[in-house]
Amino acid sequence: MNSVLLIYTGGTIGMKTNPATGTLAPFNFDQIEAEVPELKKFGIKVDTITFSPLIDSSNITPAEWVRMALAIKENYDKYDGFVVLHGTDTMSYSASALSFMLQNLDKPVILTGSQIPIGVPRTDGKENLITSVEIAAAKRNDEKAIVPEVCIYFENHLFRGNRTSKYSADHFNAFRSYNYPPLAEAGIDIKYNIPYIRAVDPFRPHFDVVTEMSENIAVLRLYPGISKASVDSILGNPDIEGVILETYGSGNAPMFDWFLDSVREAVERGVIILNITQCSVGTVNMGIYDTGRALGAIGVVGGGDMTFETAVTKMMYLLGKSLDKEEVKKQLSIPLRGEMTHGQM
Ligand code: ASP
Repeated sequence: MNSVLLIYTGGTIGMKTNPATGTLAPFNFDQIEAEVPELKKFGIKVDTITFSPLIDSSNITPAEWVRMALAIKENYDKYDGFVVLHGTDTMSYSASALSFMLQNLDKPVILTGSQIPIGVPRTDGKENLITSVEIAAAKRNDEKAIVPEVCIYFENHLFRGNRTSKYSADHFNAFRSYNYPPLAEAGIDIKYNIPYIRAVDPFRPHFDVVTEMSENIAVLRLYPGISKASVDSILGNPDIEGVILETYGSGNAPMFDWFLDSVREAVERGVIILNITQCSVGTVNMGIYDTGRALGAIGVVGGGDMTFETAVTKMMYLLGKSLDKEEVKKQLSIPLRGEMTHGQM
C-alpha cells in the first residue's frame, strides 16, 4: 500500500471560529480526519504529524521551514510522499524555501490548504486535501514518483511551488504560476503535464536537507519618487548581505546619479543585489534598455522570471550556505530547482 505523511502546520483549512472573538483560530487535526472520512477509504496509508502550536501562516519564519524540512528528512524513507497542510498566506514562500532546502528530492512534497475551513459545508479544503494525498502517493509504472518536486495543489491545479504566488484573498482559485505551466490538472482524472515535471538525476547523492537560512536580507521596491533617504536606509544598512531589488518592466531602474551611486557603493561593499521585476509575467533582461543595462554594468544580478517569494528564499538559502560571494551571484543567476526559465540576461 502506498503511504503518505501529512504534516499539519495550521492555516484556515483546520480553523474554527473562536466564539469569544468571532475570528478564526486553529484547532486539533483529529477533527479534520473526522471531517474527511474519505481519507481512510483511499487504499493509501496516511499518517499525521501535527505542529504544536498550530500556526496561522502569517507567523511563519525560517525556523518553521526547518521544522518542516526535518520532519520530511526524519520520515523520508518511510513514506512515498508528503502533504504539508499550510495556511495560504505564505504558502508560496514555504514552498519556495523547501524547494531549495530539500536536496536531491525524489518524492512529492505537496503543500495545500483552503480558503474556507474544512468543517464548513462549502469548504474547498476537502478536495484540496484528498487530491493532494492522491498526487503525493502517485507512482509511475517503474514505481518512481510521478511528481518528485515541491508543489502547491490548489483548486484543481498542481503547480511547481517555487513558481507560485498567492494572487487572490477571495477566490478558491487562490494561486497563480504566471511563468510556468501547471504540472497537473485535476478533473475527472488527474492529467499530469509530464514534459514540465522535473526529471530526477539518476546519479544524485542521497536526499538531505539544508537548514541554514540567512535572515540578513532586505527588499527595495522602486516607485517613482522614491527618495535617496529610503534607498540608503536599505542599501546602506551594514547588517544586510543581500537585497532583492524590485524594478520596473524588464528590469529597469531610474538612471539618476544618486541612485546608481548608492547601488554601486553597496555592490562595492559586497552587498549582493538581485534584480527582479514588479511585473507578474515576463522576465528581467538587463540588455534591452539603458535603464536596465546601467544596473548590469554595476554588478547587479539578473533574477530572470523568478517570483518575489522565490527571490527572497533563494537569497536566504544561498547566503545561509556561507559560499564565496561570486558563487552566490552565479547560483542566483541560474536555475537550481526549475525556479527560473533562463539564466541571467
Ligand atoms: N491566515 C491564514 C493562513 O495563512 C489564511 C489561510 O490559510 O488561507 O494561515
